[in-house]
Amino acid sequence: MTAHSVNYVIIVGPQGAGKGTQAAAVAPELGLEHVATGDLFRAILKTDSDLGDEVRHYYDQGALVPDELTVRVLFAHIQRMQESDPSISGVLLDGFPRNREQADALDSALEDRGEAISAVVLVDVPRDELMKRLTGRLICSECGATYHSEFNPPANGESCDVCGGSLYQRSDDTPEAVAQRLDIYYEQTEPILQHYREQDLLVEVDGNQEIDAVTREILQALRPRVNT
Ligand code: ADP
Ligand code: AMP
Repeated sequence: MTAHSVNYVIIVGPQGAGKGTQAAAVAPELGLEHVATGDLFRAILKTDSDLGDEVRHYYDQGALVPDELTVRVLFAHIQRMQESDPSISGVLLDGFPRNREQADALDSALEDRGEAISAVVLVDVPRDELMKRLTGRLICSECGATYHSEFNPPANGESCDVCGGSLYQRSDDTPEAVAQRLDIYYEQTEPILQHYREQDLLVEVDGNQEIDAVTREILQALRPRVNT
């Protein structure tokens, strides 16, 4: 048992639904640390290492990194985070779990710690909208903030509003890799939602609205479920 109870909230949805955008807005409001497995892998890709080469092999084609490696990277990160700040009150998981094996690994890791998932937010957007969002996505190379060339451009048109860093397009936001990632989402990730629905943990939010409207809906749904 940990000394205090930690909220574990999952944000799930197809690639491009706005999980990262929304997580950045809602996590500070709810006292949650945003942990995105995609961000952890992007940090590993920047290192010149065998692990970086292994991850790149899967990442660039839009394939899932093997479960065993993903689970190890994620739990090591959470442990490091909690060791450096034992008073962390919650974690907002983004991009994990992506399949049944990962969902089971999360359940058993939390059970071992005497903890549980507080809520799972599904942000859903029709598939035909997602390709437009992903092929126009821009990421800050310094702080990871997310923009869109048309739907959410940076104020000065070229660099990050938050830190002034330069913006880049992700190597897996090509039409081919996006199609592959979306296929994996509908085949492997969407089916695990039933597991959370049965436990009455799932809240569904319409992601096909203005960014601020989606944020308001998520906060309204999560506030009663997260102990702050
Ligand atoms: P995810 O983390 O789910 O893959 P992102 O948060 O990276 O999605 O968003 C994907 C792209 O869509 C980004 O370019 C982002 O700026 C844009 N975006 C996010 N939410 C919206 C929205 N509600 N309307 C229009 N574009 C959005
Ligand atoms: P994302 O930033 O969530 O779109 O993830 C980008 C890429 O990182 C994915 O296409 C996978 O290659 C890898 N990845 C992120 N999260 C996971 C996960 N939970 N399981 C396996 N691979 C992942």
